[in-house]
Amino acid sequence: MKVKVMDNTVKVYGMKPVKGRGAKLYCGGGRVYLDFLAGVAVNALGYNDPDINSAVISQVKKYIHTSRLFYSGPQEKLAKLITENSFGKMVYFVNSGAEANEVAIKLARKWGVLNKKGANRIITFKNSFHGRTMTTLTATGQKKFHNLLNPKMPGFVYAKYNDIKDVKSKIGKKTAAVLIEPVQAEGGVYVPSKKFLKELQKLCKLKKVLLIVDEVFTGMGRTGYLFAHQGFGIKPDIMTLGKGLGGGLPLSAVVVSPALSRVFKPGDHGTTMGGNPAACAAGAVVIKKVKKIVNKVRKNGDYFISELKKIKSPFIKEIRGKGLLVGVEVKGDASKVVEKAFKRNLIINCAKPNIIRMVPPLIVTKKEIDKAVGILKEIL
Ligand SMILES: *Cc1c(COP(=O)(O)O)cnc(C)c1O
Repeated sequence: MKVKVMDNTVKVYGMKPVKGRGAKLYCGGGRVYLDFLAGVAVNALGYNDPDINSAVISQVKKYIHTSRLFYSGPQEKLAKLITENSFGKMVYFVNSGAEANEVAIKLARKWGVLNKKGANRIITFKNSFHGRTMTTLTATGQKKFHNLLNPKMPGFVYAKYNDIKDVKSKIGKKTAAVLIEPVQAEGGVYVPSKKFLKELQKLCKLKKVLLIVDEVFTGMGRTGYLFAHQGFGIKPDIMTLGKGLGGGLPLSAVVVSPALSRVFKPGDHGTTMGGNPAACAAGAVVIKKVKKIVNKVRKNGDYFISELKKIKSPFIKEIRGKGLLVGVEVKGDASKVVEKAFKRNLIINCAKPNIIRMVPPLIVTKKEIDKAVGILKEIL
């Protein structure tokens, strides 16, 4: 497809979406795709969820936007739902995952000034992904994103994921925070051990360092828990949310613990569009509905992975995942598998040139999983 006046930073797939229903995307030419990309893990409840639609329409009819200078019912309702279901005490709504991470980093650095003699270093992890702004790209521990970024935001140190010894060697008096994804999603679906995350929390406490979990991808039920860190039995100080939070509308959030709820003072942060009322109304529906299906997400995720593991193919190197965040590492070019899947009406994508990533909507059925596995079996 040749689009000359739009965004030249992305290669747009050939299909032209007309409408979506559940896990299905209807496209031009009468093609119906099974969508295991789900708007890059944004459409947690699939397309056209009736409750999201009516909540959004009802809010749009009242008002779409008033700014943060006015009280917002939808914001309060969603903030309450998030804090009641997590360690959080205060919620800052912003617009995108990257922006949420920016705010979390900013808060951690202010905390370092106030509480740890100006400590401002942030430990992140190799192969991580935290967003596309200048600071979050620097936080992202992948060299390919750093090439043309100079001068980079100083103060980031990269540790090996799932390696507590390496974190120990890099943590110190100048460290304000550790920023980590509970599962690395964009990096290629890497699930750390429970032991590692528990030791990391302990280490942070011992060294007086904030633990920030970037749950932009893993939050909102994706891994079979409302928030992925809950599945690992850890308690962070800060959590960032995005992607699935707004039910398809742009919305993200920074959730902070009671102890940190007074670090920011009036004027310390701002955003014109943050916490859009229609997006927050959708968010409240997402959180309520996702809470009811997380057990099923866990079961279906396990089923999906076990069915994939039954495929006997010399092309497969490893299958891994948690909940409905599933990766297949192959020997060779994964984009060829993606192309072949498209031809068979299955939408998937690559997290890395050799890693296929699948993130169906959380409402996906067993039958749809069977269908996807059947298609992949044929291809692989
Ligand atoms: C997608 C993602 C981001 C960036 O979110 P945007 O909304 O694209 O800014 C940050 N962190 C993680 C873990 C992500 O998966």
